[in-house]
Amino acid sequence: MTAELPFLPFSRPTIDEETIAAVGEVLRSGWITTGPKNQAFEAQLSEYFGGRPVRTFNSGTCTMEIALRIAGIGPGDEVITTPISWVATANVIIECGATPVFADIDERTRNIDLDKLEAAITPRTKAIIPVYLSGLPVDMDRLYAIAAKYKLRVVEDAAQAIGSQWKGKRIGSFGDFVSFSFQANKNITTAEGGCLVLNNLEEARLAEKYRLQGVTRSGMDGIDVDVLGGKYNMSDMMAAIGLGQMKRLAEFTAHRAKVAEHYFKCFGPDFEARTGAQLPIQAFGTSNWHLFQIILPDRGPGTRAEFMTRMQKEFNIGTGYHYAPIHLFTMYRERGFKDGQFPVAEKIGRLTVTLPMFNTMTSADVERVVAAVNGILAK
Ligand SMILES: *Cc1c(COP(=O)(O)O)cnc(C)c1O
Repeated sequence: MTAELPFLPFSRPTIDEETIAAVGEVLRSGWITTGPKNQAFEAQLSEYFGGRPVRTFNSGTCTMEIALRIAGIGPGDEVITTPISWVATANVIIECGATPVFADIDERTRNIDLDKLEAAITPRTKAIIPVYLSGLPVDMDRLYAIAAKYKLRVVEDAAQAIGSQWKGKRIGSFGDFVSFSFQANKNITTAEGGCLVLNNLEEARLAEKYRLQGVTRSGMDGIDVDVLGGKYNMSDMMAAIGLGQMKRLAEFTAHRAKVAEHYFKCFGPDFEARTGAQLPIQAFGTSNWHLFQIILPDRGPGTRAEFMTRMQKEFNIGTGYHYAPIHLFTMYRERGFKDGQFPVAEKIGRLTVTLPMFNTMTSADVERVVAAVNGILAK
């Protein structure tokens, strides 16, 4: 019926002409790999995160793996995280030779439940990886109180949380390791890429080594390798995109809050009672509104697939789901995880759906999505 309207994706990057021209300049400059644009991007990020050292990488996944390596996490160590995240969050623990341990999530925030996290700590626990799903931080005071009490390192998976805040402080401007992703769907992007906020220059130097084959150079022709590094550096084309995005970050974040506000207004205070669905927490003041996720009313197996299909076929609207529970993937089942272990994550993982939310989304787009959702969920 409304299939004539243009396709509305759940996410869409915003790249302006000035940024496209800056990438062109890099391509013409003769230096296209890691160089001056990366230095400038790292300096800007560092300034944004209150002067803390920042290093860029070619993904938000390797930033977390490198943070774990810097923290000395390896075989025999346990790392606790949430089962509701992109699988990268748990994969990096295995990459380091450590053991992933999950703690169930909170039904309202959909983030790791810090009581359950604390209960999962053993003498082998060395680190925790909280995830700020949709850009909503966990209780950061409680998180760092737990880390201090049990002497644990924290690798914040803030992949979705650039622009988010806790008590007026930017996520990334405080804490231990903080990892961000600039993958295409994130609030700001470098097409692919990421950055890691570190505690001191010693860690930053180690991050540089892990980023590029463990190499240290000195003098005109001095070179040595003393740790096993990989190939994780960011090109200057990507950094040029990042510099263009940083100029717009405050504007993007403010716009997303407006879009979220309009969603809540259009769904109305009776939406949950009317449909049995669950809206996100109205976290104005902390969230950067990376995703706008609702939990569907449980109408049996296939509930979400049917909803997503109808959104696409009848309304030409794209949706997503973030995420399937990690512990139920074959590779994790093979490590001993099973159904029923994390019931809240399993329920949310089956019924969560991501509605459109992006930097240039209009009020009319929001109204179109709300009308479609109301139409499908009407009993
Ligand atoms: C995007 C994302 C990642 C991975 O980032 P990449 O840049 O794609 O490697 C990890 N965790 C979460 C929660 C994410 O949203």
